[in-house]
Amino acid sequence: MHSPDAPRPQRMAKGRVAAVTSSGFDASRNLTERAARIAGLRSFETPTLEAVEHRRLQLWLLTLSLLFAAVVALVTVTAWHDVRPPAWVPPIVLRGGLLATVILFCAYAIEKELQLRRLTKLLIDERVLTAALTNRLREVSTLLEAAKAMNLVLDLEEVLRTILECANELLDTHDGSIMLVHGDGELRTVSVSGSSGARGARLKFGEGVAGQVAQTREPVLVTGVLEPEKWPAGSGAAQPPTSSMSVPLVYRDVLLGVLNVNAAPGRAYTRHQLRALSLFGEQAAAAIANARLYEEQRLLASQNVYQALHDLLTNLPNRALFLDRVNHALSRRRLPGQLVAILFLDLDDFKLINDSLGHAAGDEVLIGFADRLRTCVRSGDAMARFGGDEFAVLIEDVTSAEDAAATAERILALFAEPFSVGERRMWLRASIGIAVEGLGASSAEALLRNADTAKNVAKTQGKGRIVTFEETMHADALQRLEFEGELQHALEHGQLAVHYQPMFSLAHGRAIGVEALVRWEHPARGLLPASAFLPLAEQAGLMVQIDRWVLRRACETLQALRSDVELPTGFLLSVNISPTHLQDAALVDEVAQVLRDTGIEPGRLVLEITEGAILLDSEKTAVHLNRIKALGVKVALDDFGTGYSSLSHLRRFPVDIVKIDRVFVDGITTDKGAGALVQAIVRLGRGLNIEVIAEGIEHQAQADALAALQCPYGQGWYLSIDLPAEGLADFLRRSS
Ligand code: C2E
Ligand code: MG
Ligand code: MG
Repeated sequence: MHSPDAPRPQRMAKGRVAAVTSSGFDASRNLTERAARIAGLRSFETPTLEAVEHRRLQLWLLTLSLLFAAVVALVTVTAWHDVRPPAWVPPIVLRGGLLATVILFCAYAIEKELQLRRLTKLLIDERVLTAALTNRLREVSTLLEAAKAMNLVLDLEEVLRTILECANELLDTHDGSIMLVHGDGELRTVSVSGSSGARGARLKFGEGVAGQVAQTREPVLVTGVLEPEKWPAGSGAAQPPTSSMSVPLVYRDVLLGVLNVNAAPGRAYTRHQLRALSLFGEQAAAAIANARLYEEQRLLASQNVYQALHDLLTNLPNRALFLDRVNHALSRRRLPGQLVAILFLDLDDFKLINDSLGHAAGDEVLIGFADRLRTCVRSGDAMARFGGDEFAVLIEDVTSAEDAAATAERILALFAEPFSVGERRMWLRASIGIAVEGLGASSAEALLRNADTAKNVAKTQGKGRIVTFEETMHADALQRLEFEGELQHALEHGQLAVHYQPMFSLAHGRAIGVEALVRWEHPARGLLPASAFLPLAEQAGLMVQIDRWVLRRACETLQALRSDVELPTGFLLSVNISPTHLQDAALVDEVAQVLRDTGIEPGRLVLEITEGAILLDSEKTAVHLNRIKALGVKVALDDFGTGYSSLSHLRRFPVDIVKIDRVFVDGITTDKGAGALVQAIVRLGRGLNIEVIAEGIEHQAQADALAALQCPYGQGWYLSIDLPAEGLADFLRRSS
């Protein structure tokens, strides 16, 4: 820093500081060296002031010695008569000669003295100039240092702080502030130093000194107290700044803001300092622009990283980030017995939503589910969406699979409430697989694979299930894959068959109809019931194909039998329709076509649907069911009592028959609750004019109990097992 009272060169063109100073310095040096040579100092280097003083001393000592010698000689010649000069020198000449010598030497001494004085003056001027140049050099180097410091910092906040610190070092400021342009024509203080009163200030362009600087882009120097009325005398408060400077921060012709500095009270800034601050402002603006650019790039980079690691629909972590979290959880030091578990869940029948309502509706459901999931998972546990309808949850610090299952139960409970898509309300379910660390899975990938396998097993066991991984499952999964291929083959090569299970009136024992049940005549495994392969068919996307085939085959078979045996009046043919098939817009036309082709009366045909299918998309289901009803076909609600039974569905949908699920029949002789429920359904059916059929009657006691509860119809192995087509003919003959 330069001292404030050191003299400074007055005119110095901006940007040419170094060039001007060095050439001025060289000129004055040449002058001094010439003067030194004239004064008799023949050194090759610029003489010092000390050397000049020494020379002066020598000169005067010599002059005085000479004068003394001359005076002594004169006195001797004049006073002592016996001192005789040589006869050829007349005394007058001798005296005259001595006097002339003295005068000449004095003149020489005076001349030398004058030259030495000029040299002294030059040397002093040179020293002053050197001091001033040193100050300028120091200023320039401070500027360069400041620019370097500002450019080294990349964080905008820190850049602003560094600018104010450097300005303070450069100009010994009392306080300062940086205001940046905000929006259109406004300045806002973003950083302050010292006790600046600019904190939080907002100025329009043209308002106040900084506003004017922003408008004109010209630096401003203020001397004296601005608005003295704001600083009441003797108030004891802080003293007002007596001088201040404001410079624009412009980078590549764009105004970024204004830098303001205030001098300590009593001090005043000069125009030269204003120029220095302007130069500094240019560097500061470049540093601010750099920091902003860096910040933008950092933001962009972090956005890219976010996008690479998240599912952008639900904003949940994606597979990559989830695996990382699982790995981290596995590598973390934990207490003995504390384990890491993964829940892998998959929304059941989600494909139906996408297919029937479109992807936007599907997205809405996924977002809604992700939001619900967030509410039921502990804050430390990670969640993820893997794309499609697959989600995963990481649970840390469980002690057993049961702990993880408790979380899974909580997640399943999230489905008790319907999901809203626009105006529609939809009930969904999910299958959850659980894998707990150990059991040969120590890496994140292995753990996830196990949870996925368990989830697939859950799917094949029906919907809305939770299954914990077991080691045999991988082999099972492989087998399942093989099985899927075989099923496709079976469908194409006539290995499927339809069996018919009769349904009876419990009061009279009369057959009222048959339910068509699909069977697989497996070449190696023998005859397989529907429950052994339909979940797989669903996963393999073969369900609708199977349904269609069964419907046509059953109608054809029954119609063909009629040539042999007459069907009892009102004899029904009940065919199961899968939820996927019920959503299919072509279903109604298919049914109508089959009825036309086979000649079965629509009133004989019953389509059995499950509650899940109704709940999935109730509006669409209602439309399809009404169209089916319009054909004259009956609708039965199968497996009633399981799933999310809502009695209100019985009123909302055109249901003719309710089939009470086997679990209630199972418990009817032992469980009072089951009995009460069957009774309630029977009464309700009577009230709503809906027929009630109890399924899965295996014992006489169950049949008796149902009859006692006045359940009108029943079906089950006790009454009759399911019969192949040939067996059905005999059965009908016996019944008629
Ligand atoms: P469901 O419609 O409730 O059919 C009754 C199931 O219970 C049949 O199993 C039947 O064999 C079995 N069952 C009958 N009486 C008894 C009994 O006394 N005790 C016990 N424990 N079970 C009995 P199946 O054939 O394995 O069918 C299972 C489910 O698969 C059916 O349940 C039905 O929902 C579905 N299904 C069967 N065939 C088809 C089909 O062609 N299309 C569709 N979409 N689903 C079908
Ligand atoms: Mg059924
Ligand atoms: Mg059933």
